[in-house]
Amino acid sequence: MKDTFKHKGLRQKLVSTLVSKGIVNKNVLAAIGKIPRHLFMDSSFLDHAYQDKPFPIAADQTISQPFTVAFQSELLEVKKGDKVLEIGTGSGYQTAVLCELGAKVYSIERQQELFKKTSKFLPKLGYGPKKLIFGDGYKGLEEEAPFDSIIVTAGAPFVPKPLLAQLKINGRLVIPVGDNVQTMTLYIRKGPKEFEKHELGSFRFVPLLEDKN
Ligand code: SAH
Repeated sequence: MKDTFKHKGLRQKLVSTLVSKGIVNKNVLAAIGKIPRHLFMDSSFLDHAYQDKPFPIAADQTISQPFTVAFQSELLEVKKGDKVLEIGTGSGYQTAVLCELGAKVYSIERQQELFKKTSKFLPKLGYGPKKLIFGDGYKGLEEEAPFDSIIVTAGAPFVPKPLLAQLKINGRLVIPVGDNVQTMTLYIRKGPKEFEKHELGSFRFVPLLEDKN
């Protein structure tokens, strides 16, 4: 599959759309302008890859809407070399954005099919996350903690305690919380037991499910 001049043009349009919707972080916009999102999608959706919409991927999951990816990425305030944990690898698109931002990415996926597919696909595109893990994101990744930031890309019915516990001081957790509709929530760890909480609007995600499959 190719990344053509036409795709590049459509991507720049998408970047302009994101700017018009309020995304300001230059590095995030540059990453979205660079990553060939169409290659992360099934062929039947190729024509739609640069619309600001979510689309189905394998195993009844979705590739998040570009605005959502940009919004969450901006909230993480990633600096080069940051250790970042992602829950819900899915297509790997958000993972690639984090890699472009210079993060050392650990990403957990509970669907075996997606885990296998994305583990093969990302290196082909030239993205090398530190580690992709087949497991249950509710538990976080104790052996690699603490993290500079943690991003959850599925709707969580509640905030899993291990994720808060695995943040560095000043670390950031970005998590959509709720059942049918989720509130994007940012936690900043201010001390061992102190967290600042910000609520940042409504979103819709596929659910964060327990255990692996
Ligand atoms: N970041 C992905 C979004 C995929 S949708 C992308 O850009 O494509 C959310 C993903 O979270 C799905 O792949 C789903 O299988 C996964 N998921 C759901 N519950 C999970 C859990 N407990 N642990 C890890 N991954 C989970």
